Parts: sequence; structure tokens; C-alpha cells
Amino acid sequence: MVLDSASEKIAKNLFASYYKRTDLGISDVEKREFGFGNFEKKIMFRHIAFKDLGALKDYAVSSVPAFISCSPSLYHFPAARPMEKKGWIGSELVFDLDSTDLELPCQEKHGKSWVCSECQDAVKGECIRLIEDFLIPDFGFSKGDIRINFSGNRGYHVHVNSEEVFGLGSDARKEMTDYIAGNGISAKSVFPLISNKTARLEGPKPSDYGWGGKIARGMISALNTGEGALVSLGMTKGEARLMHENRANVIMGITNGNWDKVRISGRERFWSRVIEKMAVKQSDSIDGNVTSSTYHLLRMPNTLHGDTGLLSIKISSIERLAEFDPMRHSISFKKGEHRVEITRDTQPISIGEEELGKMDVGATLELPTYAALYLVLKRYARFLLES
Ligand SMILES: [Zn+2]
Repeated sequence: MVLDSASEKIAKNLFASYYKRTDLGISDVEKREFGFGNFEKKIMFRHIAFKDLGALKDYAVSSVPAFISCSPSLYHFPAARPMEKKGWIGSELVFDLDSTDLELPCQEKHGKSWVCSECQDAVKGECIRLIEDFLIPDFGFSKGDIRINFSGNRGYHVHVNSEEVFGLGSDARKEMTDYIAGNGISAKSVFPLISNKTARLEGPKPSDYGWGGKIARGMISALNTGEGALVSLGMTKGEARLMHENRANVIMGITNGNWDKVRISGRERFWSRVIEKMAVKQSDSIDGNVTSSTYHLLRMPNTLHGDTGLLSIKISSIERLAEFDPMRHSISFKKGEHRVEITRDTQPISIGEEELGKMDVGATLELPTYAALYLVLKRYARFLLES
């Protein structure tokens, strides 16, 4: 939806003031490709290069893009086109998580254009699982190799920067995405005898590498956590109660690779669903996902998101991610207030210091600049000119 011209002008002035007072920072700026968007389209043009951070800042202040994106890849000639002429040097490994890919129950209520705290918590949980269940234990990356960025709207970009991944081609990157997504992993690949109802059910041990070990450890953890955790894996309440009562025995069995004591109905379907739940789902755009194709551009850290006015902010560590609240910690424009008119019924929202209830079309109110800008850029309000 196009912003009305008064709203666009105010938003642009605010963005300009941010880029004037902010020093943008990114490593190897002269080897990256940049792309820019306006308030309607995230990337209007790309294949832009800058000789240093100063030149990039000058551009941001004078052109005031609504989105600034840059390549996780480094090139000898980042401005060259087509892509093959850029002289690819290597690329960070990047994962892109977005709450709209998660099929959350709250989204049925508020639609995909709105983002609520449940959406934000769910995608943060996915981000933590990606790092703690896959990147560190299965791929052996260290915490120091991993950088996390809030996207500025409703997701996270996880970057792995290490010598081992820098030169990896698309196929190797695709294999990692498939592994994390559980593609090609089925109940049968974890429990080869699952269709044979008379044989003892042999399965993975918690010490096993890969998906098998992950499922064994996940099951033991659910058994130790309680009946609720077993039900959320897909067991009936009766099954969960029985399993939990016998947990010492069941856990001992799993530890030795004997899964016979795990008694559940429809076990093939059950385990397929567990695998699906333990996988991490990434955004897939038409031209493949961000991880496997190295030519995608991603929002540059510490730039503004043109659909929210929030910052695409760097989160310094995995520990900080647990406490990170995007609607508090990625806010810019804390000074001043603006009048807006609501143009679409909203949901309750908590942003910065503001707790706003549902607002109906036609309501006018004065809000802190960050909250006004958020609603305007989300297309739920328009700025009213000060009289
Ligand atoms: Zn939601």
C-alpha cells in the first residue's frame, strides 16, 4: 500500500535525521554489493558499491532510502553486473527466520501484516533453537563465529563468519539448510524397523550424532520436563501420563537404544510430526533461500526498516538474545510526538513505553514519534500535519 505524500515526507525526514546522526559500520564495506529500496519496495536497485563507510553515509543522508541492504558475500568488483562478473571471493553463512513462516495460531486472528508479541517470541525461540540445537552442536560452530541481527520487523538474520564456511559453494550451503529443515529425514530413517510391529524397536541413543541423537535427547528432555511436554510432542494425555510415570524405565531404554518402552499409537506418524517440530523452518523466496544462494542482499545492521521504523539491530550475544525485546530494544526516534489518524483497525500493541489498546479507523491521537512512525509505516495510520 502506497504511503500518502504527507506521511512519506515526515517519514523521510525522520529517516534522514537518523542517518545524519548515525555512523554506519560494517566490515569490508568496499567489497560488498549494496541495494536500496523505497517505502513501497525493499530493493528498487542494487549492484551499488562504496569505497568506504563515509561514502555510504553520504549516500544514506542525501538519498534517504527506506531500506539499506548489503551482500553477505564479498566481491572483487561488487558493482559489476551481471553477478558472474563481480568476482566472488566468499560469503558468510546466513540464515533468515521470519515469524510469517511459522503458521502461528495468533496469525489467524490478526493476519500476516500485523506482528504481536506471540509472533515475536515464537521467532526468537526458533532463532535460539537454530543456534543451540543445530549450529553449535551439529555443525561445531563456536559462539564467537555467530552474529545475530534483528531484521527490524518480525525476524532474525543469523550470520556465521568463519574460515570454514567462507568459501562454501551453493550446494554445500543447501545441504546445511536441508539438514536443519529435516528434509529427507523420516521416521523410517531414524527407526529403520518402525513398520515391523513384532520386532523390538531399535532406535537412536542420546549420544548419537545428528538427527537420531537429537530425537533421543529431545524425548528424554520431554520425559523429564513433564506430561505437558509429552503432549506437545503429540502424545495423547493418557499416553503422556503413562510415559511420565514410567519415565525412569523409558529413559534407561532410550539410553541403550531400546525404544520398545515408548508406547504410542500411530508411531510412524507420531515420529514424523516430532521431526517436523524439531526442524527449523526458514524463509523461502521464489529464487531460493538466503542460505543456499550467495547473491541475496540482507538488511544492513543498524539501518532502519522501511516497514516499521525499527532498527535492524545487532544483538551482541546468544545470552543477550534471550532477553532481547524487539519492541523495546530496537527503537529509534525516542524524542518528540506526532499526531496520527488510524486508517485500519489495529490490535493491542506494546511498543517502547506505550501500551496501546485496540484502535479503530478514524481515531486520531498523539503518540511518541517511534509509535506513530511504526503504525504509519505498517499502513495502520497516517501522519497528520501539525496545524
Ligand atoms: Zn501474532
